[in-house]
Amino acid sequence: MRIVVLTGGIGGARFLLGVRAYAQEVGAEVTAVVNVGDDLRLHGLRVCPDLDSVMYTLGGGADPERGWGRTGETWTVKDELAAYGAEPGWFGLGDKDLATHLVRTTMLDAGYPLHQVTEALATRWQPGVRLLPATNDRLETHVIVSARSELASPAVTNNAAVTNDAAVTNGFGGGQQAIHFQEWWVRHRAQLPTHRFVFVGAEAAKPAPGVAEAIAEADVVLIAPSNPVVSITPILAVAGVREAVTTGPAPVVGVSPIIGGAPVRGMADRCLAVVGVECSAAGVGQLYGARTAGGLLDGWLVAEEDAQTVVPQVTVRAAPLRMTDEAATVAMVRAAVEMA
Ligand code: GDP
Ligand code: CA
Repeated sequence: MRIVVLTGGIGGARFLLGVRAYAQEVGAEVTAVVNVGDDLRLHGLRVCPDLDSVMYTLGGGADPERGWGRTGETWTVKDELAAYGAEPGWFGLGDKDLATHLVRTTMLDAGYPLHQVTEALATRWQPGVRLLPATNDRLETHVIVSARSELASPAVTNNAAVTNDAAVTNGFGGGQQAIHFQEWWVRHRAQLPTHRFVFVGAEAAKPAPGVAEAIAEADVVLIAPSNPVVSITPILAVAGVREAVTTGPAPVVGVSPIIGGAPVRGMADRCLAVVGVECSAAGVGQLYGARTAGGLLDGWLVAEEDAQTVVPQVTVRAAPLRMTDEAATVAMVRAAVEMA
């Protein structure tokens, strides 16, 4: 059996621990197609937060308490940067983590595409799952907020050009400005008056080599209980990925990240509010939509407390959806695959 999982960072990584264990039980192969919309350049380095969360978690090197970054991390470089007053101070780059970004950036600058760089980094971590970026092309999630003088810190200048492109191509003007997703999420805790999300570069982006093929050859496509708006939507903003999923032979089953009207962790409720979707299992199910109606889903797995959820033309089933440990997560994965 071949399983493809569309995934973001921390929530998706926990889910993948269960997918990997389930796959070992039944002898399946797993490919994870990972969001790159959160990626950014900092201090000249390419940082891929979701790819790294997945790689560190599956490789046993993630900090379980913080949820992101490395175990036993130290912060010498961050402190030294702060001593120079180097912005941005709001993005935590640990010393161990920096080594990943140094290797990645060196390889990218030497001309290797991101999917090959990811494969090279994974030789160290042996994640037991094939990790693919959704695209090798530039695709960045920017957030259109009400303009404020202090926004768009100069340190994110590499992104400023992209931000301006977004301004031009999307024609927003007076009183609004685009900031990088990370600035919105990490620096401002998703608290700013916000109009919408823009996936800069998505129109031109192509699926990374192997992504469309993996989806076409899959027996089941799972949508991880990741943030629907800023983890899953940017993956599907790559036209070739969306088409592969919606028209492929494999059944598509999504797992709800919302339980009883709230995200289990994080601020997905804030993202859903921006796109005008109710923060509920039904709201996210409808956002994804039925494959038979041009959307994504054949099946939608919701938590037991959401068993009454209805999504038109989608089969809905309920199961315990809290990823408290690997066994609980494996049970979730089994329920999703059995639906397929
Ligand atoms: P990020 O990229 O690091 O933000 O991580 P993801 O987008 O992959 O996952 C974040 C989402 O995981 C959040 O919106 C949570 O609702 C969801 N989540 C976290 N823990 C659980 C859990 O135990 N069960 C379910 N169903 N969802 C969870
Ligand atoms: Ca993310």
